Order: sequence, then C-alpha cells, then structure tokens
Amino acid sequence: MVRENEIRKNEVAVEAPAAGDAGLVFIGRIRTPWTSRMETPRQGRHDGPVCTIEIFEPWVAALRGVDKYERLEVLYWLDRSRRDLVLQSPASDGEVHGTFSLRSPVRPNPIGTSIVVLERVENACLLVRGLDCLDGTPLLDIKPDRTMFKPIAPPQAAGDFQVGSETAHFCKKG
Ligand code: SAM
Repeated sequence: MVRENEIRKNEVAVEAPAAGDAGLVFIGRIRTPWTSRMETPRQGRHDGPVCTIEIFEPWVAALRGVDKYERLEVLYWLDRSRRDLVLQSPASDGEVHGTFSLRSPVRPNPIGTSIVVLERVENACLLVRGLDCLDGTPLLDIKPDRTMFKPIAPPQAAGDFQVGSETAHFCKKG
C-alpha cells in the first residue's frame, strides 16, 4: 500500500533526533510524469517512461563523460517522506519489518537510488528511463553504474582489504 503519512497497525515510530547539517546540496531536480505516490512505481523499470534529470549550475560541467555510460546510478532525496519509523508494515497487514530491511521511502535519511538507462544528454539535462520518484524530487548525485565503471586511478598499494595497519573484518551472512 502506498503511504501518505499515516502509521499502520504494529508500526513503530521513534522520536527522531533533529536533523544535523550533513552539508548536502541539491544539484538538480528530477522531472517525472508522477505527481502522486499512488501512481508512482515502487521501483523504476528500464522500459518505463523517459524522465528528465535537470542539473543546476554550477554543476553542469560535471556532466562531462557521463554519455560514455549506458547506465547511471542516480541518488535522490525523497523529500515528501516521513523519517521516524523503525518498524514498517508495507502491506498494511500488521506484519512489520525493520526499516533497514526494506527499500521503503520512509527512512531516517530518505535517500532513493535507481540504476537508470541513459537515453541521451541534452545540454544540462539527462533523459533517462528507470526512475520511480515524484515530479520535482531533488537530485543528490549521479555516478556511473558500478558494474560498468573501471577506476581510472591506479590501485592503492595497500590493496582493497587493508585499512591502515589493520585488516578489515567482514560480517558473514547466516
Ligand atoms: N528506487 C529507490 C530505492 O530503492 O532506493 C526508491 C524506492 S521507493 C520504494 C519508491 C517510492 O517512493 C515510490 O513508489 C513513491 O511511493 C515514493 N516516492 C517517490 N518519490 C518520493 C518523494 N519525492 N518523496 C517521498 N516519497 C516518494
């Protein structure tokens, strides 16, 4: 079910601390056909409608080279989300799930990400398919899809798994 701002059965909200200033800047705006959450797809599809990512000055020069990539990762700020739920019931059926086990827009820092297909670049705009956000959603960042990106700088001498003099430890599933 799509949420406006209601709390559903068994969901838990907390008193969220006041937002500190992480220094984020909105670098553009995303234009989509959707003005209501009811009609916005839950996840974008690469055969979905073409949407327009408008880049603001002074960031337009940073688009140089993006056209080398068929797919881009787009990060955006889900500005109309509540931010205080730790347990959520996506199906509104009383069964709850932890926020960090979901891709719900309701999260302490409402960052959305999508892998989009780049159709073309037109001046300060990217025309893409694969988004799932409301018209006017603020843009945070654009990066090449990580599966298509090869680091341009040489590898670090220490290797990927050394952090300073300590070996990083990884949690295993299960
Ligand atoms: N693809 C992103 C992700 O996985 O991080 C976002 C997924 S989220 C489930 C997409 C939903 O967020 C949409 O269906 C809509 O209900 C909601 N949404 C989209 N734009 C929003 C906005 N600007 N503010 C609040 N909610 C938004």
